Amino acid sequence: MEDPLRPLLAETARRASRYLDDIRERRVAPPDEAVASLAALVEPAGFPDDPLPAADVLAFLDNAAGPATVANTGGRYFGFVNGGALPASLAASWLVSTWDQNAALGVMSPAACLLEDQALRWVIDVLGLPVESAAAAVSGATGANFAALCAARHALLLRAGWDADNDGLFGAPPLRVVAGDEVHVSMLKALGLAGFGRNRIERVPADSQGRILVSALPKLDSRTLVCLQAGNVNTGAFDPAGEICARAHEAGAWVHVDGAFGLWAAASPRYAHLAAGFASADSWCTDAHKWPNTVYDCGIVIVRDGSALRHAMTVQAAYLPPGERREPSQHGPEMSRRARGVELWAALRSLGRHGLAGLIDRTCAHARLFAQGLREEAGLDILNEVVINQVLAAVPGRDSAKRTNRIIRAIQEDGTCWCGGTVWQGKTAMRVSVSSWLTTEDDVHKSVAAIARIARAEAMGGLP
Ligand SMILES: *Cc1c(COP(=O)(O)O)cnc(C)c1O
Repeated sequence: MEDPLRPLLAETARRASRYLDDIRERRVAPPDEAVASLAALVEPAGFPDDPLPAADVLAFLDNAAGPATVANTGGRYFGFVNGGALPASLAASWLVSTWDQNAALGVMSPAACLLEDQALRWVIDVLGLPVESAAAAVSGATGANFAALCAARHALLLRAGWDADNDGLFGAPPLRVVAGDEVHVSMLKALGLAGFGRNRIERVPADSQGRILVSALPKLDSRTLVCLQAGNVNTGAFDPAGEICARAHEAGAWVHVDGAFGLWAAASPRYAHLAAGFASADSWCTDAHKWPNTVYDCGIVIVRDGSALRHAMTVQAAYLPPGERREPSQHGPEMSRRARGVELWAALRSLGRHGLAGLIDRTCAHARLFAQGLREEAGLDILNEVVINQVLAAVPGRDSAKRTNRIIRAIQEDGTCWCGGTVWQGKTAMRVSVSSWLTTEDDVHKSVAAIARIARAEAMGGLP
């Protein structure tokens, strides 16, 4: 008898390919009917008693859920900072799931651990970070920020004569946290999780692009954690890292960098100058599922003093073998987990250094083209200096917020592309983040044309 798994996997491949066949032509936000048909997924009687054959489970998912997915792999999704999925990373992800490796320990999966090691070394190299750093592949930038903060907490308190990992934070010498006014919310979440307290942060004023004002920095000392940003989520701006790192290190402070997407500018000779000063920090977080277009979920934490990360993340038990190699679970918050490092390896190997630089350059060029089109064709104001792949646009003049929101709603409903909204320093704006490997110049032209058409309709009073 034929293994029943083979026809199931062949059917899965067929359905997945069909999903991708028209992904570039599909509307980006799912149609209302498709979202409404999700109701079919709700089992009215709760968890069903009877089993369902795997092929039926698959067909049900594909038919009911597939049409209600957001086409963010299609090249015209510009919301948040959501990348697409590089073919090599998607294909590797199928293999990774088939292998079902537990990437907690080298002994559980020599292959997964070796590939992850290599991929993390490549990331450290291409981002221009210190080669002695230790790293871990985690679920995303929030997890990476959290892991880095645990390492920072360990190191800062150890210097103050306190063992935070074993004795906790109650009664510990207090640490200070300094962060810019435009710090990302995930940093605040991670600071809360790591026990620094969201309300204890000393916020530093930022300029019109969201960059920390060096002149407004408080006095730093050896009990201070300074949080910098490489790539503001709205403007794409970079904090003046070189100057701040020099000051911080003179005072003995720890500098952490949230570089969820912006740090990848370092991979392009054209944009590397923007990220240059960040290499002298102490820890970094970044995402591979954003700009480098791996499949979800792939964040990366990097810490210059590897022992600080290992002390914070250590686990010891008689059944966990000590070893020479880098054990993933001794570097990140998780133990059992999927082999996301393989998908990272596949994405990076398929790109190579030149491909990665090309992806950065291309998406930045598309962002500039977008800004030009939105200004000239759609009559919008561009609120930020378009330094990398982020654009902020708003209707000029009176009732700007109301009118900009109307346009955002209409463009999402229209389906040609997808852009989200934000409030940037008190001003309502449309955000455009060009983060997909698949976006072409034609995609930008089509999207700008749709936004211009909608902006004209809005100006004529033709939008609700
Ligand atoms: C996206 C983002 C994060 C959070 O990343 P996740 O992968 O969603 O956890 C943190 N900081 C910045 C600047 C980001 O753009």
